[in-house]
Parts: sequence; structure tokens; C-alpha cells
Amino acid sequence: MAAVKPSESPDLSDLRACGLRVTGPRLAVLAVVREGDHLAVDEIALRARRRLGAVSTQAVYDVLHALTGSGLVRRIEPSGSPVRFESRVGDNHHHLICRACGSVVDVDCAAGHTPCLEPPSASGYTIDEAEVIYWGLCPTCRAPG
Ligand SMILES: [Zn+2]
Ligand SMILES: [Zn+2]
Repeated sequence: MAAVKPSESPDLSDLRACGLRVTGPRLAVLAVVREGDHLAVDEIALRARRRLGAVSTQAVYDVLHALTGSGLVRRIEPSGSPVRFESRVGDNHHHLICRACGSVVDVDCAAGHTPCLEPPSASGYTIDEAEVIYWGLCPTCRAPG
């Protein structure tokens, strides 16, 4: 692997801080997720290839898996639409998703802390997250013809 210059990107130091070995695909995918906005895997692979040249979709999946596992990247899985990835992590924010065009927008946690919804009965579970998706129509799709 090529030596990395000391004037490093935050992507690079974040990979190291999470104990991940720094590789070209990991750097490229992390940078792509950070510049993008809730991108699906296809789009991430496309943009990673633009930076790196050849990288297989499977390699991109593997990298996303490692990045998600280390908490650098968050995975959202709206039902009926492809899995998406984002770099805004650790703040328990939620998402507005348009039923028509699939656009995704961040919304802050409703209560300001996790979990932001408390079920009437937790059945003995300790709850650390409530995942909320608000479904609807975005302003563009809502606009009359
Ligand atoms: Zn829309
Ligand atoms: Zn988000």
C-alpha cells in the first residue's frame, strides 16, 4: 500500500481512529458518503469509481459494511426503497422521505435525545434508539401539475 502523506484528510484520521486499516476504497467510499446525501449503493459505487478507477460493487458493499460497523457511516433502510448511507451519525436524527420521488431529507430528533419515542410498555427492554421515518410528498411532487 502506498505511504500516506502527513497532511491528511479527516477521512483518513477517522479511519485510523476507528481502528480500520486505511485503503484506497475505504477512503474513496467514505469521502463519497460524506459529500453525498443519503446515497444508495449504486450511486456510491459510481462515484467511488470516478475517484479510484475500477472498484467492484462487492468491494463497495464490504467497505460500507466496515464503515457502518465502526460507526463512521449510518445505514438507513426505508421500506420499499434501496438502502442508503449517510455520514451524519450519532445524533439520532430522523428522515422525511417522499413517496413519489424517494428524496430523503434529515429532520432533527423530535425530543432531542434517544430514544425520542417511548413506547407505552417497553416489555423489560432497555431502548437506545427509535427509528422514525416520516413518509409524505416533497414540495416538488406536491406542486400541482
Ligand atoms: Zn418527491
Ligand atoms: Zn440523514
